[in-house]
Amino acid sequence: MTNRRFSALAEALKHEPLEFKAESTRVSDFFGSNVFNDKAMREYLPDDVYKSISENIEKSEMIDKKVADQVASAMRAWAGSKGATHYTHWFLPLNGATAEKHDSFFSPTSDNRTIEQFDGSKLVQQEPDASSFPSGGLRNTFEARGYSAWDPSSPAFIMDQTLCIPTIFVSYTGEALDFKTPLLKTLALIDHVATDICQLFDRSITRVYPTLGWEQEYFLIDESLYHARPDLIMTGRTLLGHGPAKGQQLEDHYFGAIAPRVKAFMAEFETESWKLGIPVKTRHNEVAPNQFELAPVYEEANIAVDHNQLVMVVMDRVARKHKFRVLFHEKPFAGVNGSGKHNNWSLATNTGKNLLSPGHTPKTNLLFLTFFINFIKAVHNHSDLLRAAIASAGNDHRLGANEAPPAIISIFIGTQLTKVLDELEQKVKDRKMTPDEKTELKLNIGKIPQIILDNTDRNRTSPLAFTGNKFEFRAVGSTANCGPAMIVLNTILAEQLKAFKISLDKAMEKGEDKDEAIFKILRDYVKVSRPVLFEGNGYSDEWVEEAQKRGLSNFKNTPEALSAYITEKTLNLFSSNNIFTPKELEARWEIRHENYAKVLQIESRVLADLAGNHIIPTAIKYQNVLVENVKGLKEILTEEQFNEQADLQKYVIAKISEHISAIRRDVKEMIEERKTANLFEEAHKRSFHYCNEVKPYLERIRYHVDKLELLIDDELWTLPKYREMLFVK
Ligand code: ADP
Ligand code: MG
Repeated sequence: MTNRRFSALAEALKHEPLEFKAESTRVSDFFGSNVFNDKAMREYLPDDVYKSISENIEKSEMIDKKVADQVASAMRAWAGSKGATHYTHWFLPLNGATAEKHDSFFSPTSDNRTIEQFDGSKLVQQEPDASSFPSGGLRNTFEARGYSAWDPSSPAFIMDQTLCIPTIFVSYTGEALDFKTPLLKTLALIDHVATDICQLFDRSITRVYPTLGWEQEYFLIDESLYHARPDLIMTGRTLLGHGPAKGQQLEDHYFGAIAPRVKAFMAEFETESWKLGIPVKTRHNEVAPNQFELAPVYEEANIAVDHNQLVMVVMDRVARKHKFRVLFHEKPFAGVNGSGKHNNWSLATNTGKNLLSPGHTPKTNLLFLTFFINFIKAVHNHSDLLRAAIASAGNDHRLGANEAPPAIISIFIGTQLTKVLDELEQKVKDRKMTPDEKTELKLNIGKIPQIILDNTDRNRTSPLAFTGNKFEFRAVGSTANCGPAMIVLNTILAEQLKAFKISLDKAMEKGEDKDEAIFKILRDYVKVSRPVLFEGNGYSDEWVEEAQKRGLSNFKNTPEALSAYITEKTLNLFSSNNIFTPKELEARWEIRHENYAKVLQIESRVLADLAGNHIIPTAIKYQNVLVENVKGLKEILTEEQFNEQADLQKYVIAKISEHISAIRRDVKEMIEERKTANLFEEAHKRSFHYCNEVKPYLERIRYHVDKLELLIDDELWTLPKYREMLFVK
């Protein structure tokens, strides 16, 4: 019988780079060709309808029935010209995936003809059965209906001959069951609140919107090797496997030359992404072997979130064609770097300004400083909530490990801006500043971003860093939907800006000069927010101690971190801003716990199966070989020789026995703990039990399995090893 691992390896080595040629080398020739974008709308809609819908989108207004009908018919005509036969509402349910329910454009008529039908009502609303999506108790089982409703601000696109219409997804009773609904609410909120502030500085600013530029990290693995690893198939990560002799220590992968097979894959998924209007731009090798990163040009946050979800789908499909599997898991391989999804976030205005980019005039610099310091204050107030937003079973392996952002939320701003804040604190005493002092302070700020952008002053160990003209939230997990992180950032800043405005209005009512009042408020904010600013090494043990002294929290695991979702403070924050009702928030909290418990349950089952069906039988097989060998030696050697030379053999036999019995014992105990966990009715209790009582067994069992991998004959080992999965390409 052939060893499954060797057959997989032989297959993998046969995989050649695929030829891939884009239809044109000029991306602009086909960029967005599968998107019902502005260009397509102009072409397919009557002028007046085009104008009306563009305006509706720009102002986020309701779209009337007649316009919707005309847009629907234009969309169908356009989609038909691209060969689409079906349409679907495309939404982002709380299971973190994308969901589609396809309907054909064709409808049979009573006289046995078929007509093509797609009108405004079908564009605007669908009723997918919501019963199979997580709802955290929001949906009664007798009322399984959910509604998906058109989001005109994210353009429809074609994938697989299907017209996909981005939608929100809500329950029959109106509660959000997706990531998009609350995100759109936060966009409206921040627009309203931030524009109000901007008006103090610049009357021409009438709209503010968050921008998001994500960076997506991922691993690639050959398809044949993937299929020989049940843990990867079932859980997205390797639950066992000894580290390779060579890992990432030579640092020879980062920015290294990209292997031809990988390059062909990249070229194809980039082309597919461009057709879908996703502006992917950079690609490079990451730190770990077979790890890569991709980043687009930033976009308006709602579209960027959709595009990130979409790009993951596209990558998965194209990878299969190239006989790869793409791994988005935060930690597919122990001992080498994990994957994150940096969320670069900023605020843009209708005047083309980036509010987190200081300009050249004192006025724009004060505007910058206002947003910059309010952001810091907002994070200081709600750092626990930010931590909760990014918590997941997968991300737990990464946060706080020695190569990923720590689980402690802090902000890095660089030495230059630190100096500005110091100066602000010192200069703005209760006395009035002289006009010269004010101007100088404001002008100094203008010189800073260039320094940061020049890359000389960057800290890679911070979970949230100011990088010259944006904040980079690095703690987001690579599988995560960017939505929750965006929702929290937008809401906490809006809340903070509201408080700022109230204080400012008060001061001005008392007759204080505007600039003077702003400086004073900002100075007070800097004072109280200091603890969240950290410039040192976020990976160090000293920081853990220091952070504790500063009163910053350090939630090491998901169940603990999630608690921040349902505190009075968070419930108030979201309900007073009309983003989530307490009921919706509790539902989300419950879904996250539920999800955590399920992930751990599956991992624990898979590991138990692998231990029982793969590892122990292989270990016994090899042990028997050794036993036979020792018996043979005993026959052949003199007693003296035998006593002298067979010791090491016997030692290995004993070691194997030890590991086998440890695995058997741990598996048995782990199953008992699982049973206990499953008895809890409430999701959060289940998830705590999985975290504290089941998870430690995963690590213990792995330890013994990985020791066995080193002892056992390579010829017998059935699961592809790290050195194979990480280096074959
Ligand atoms: P790196 O951080 O890897 O050195 P860059 O600074 O060039 O790279 O940008 C990283 C990411 O930041 C890109 O995805 C880019 O789209 C995004 N980005 C740049 N400017 C903004 C902005 N104003 N708002 C949001 N994202 C931005
Ligand atoms: Mg970056």
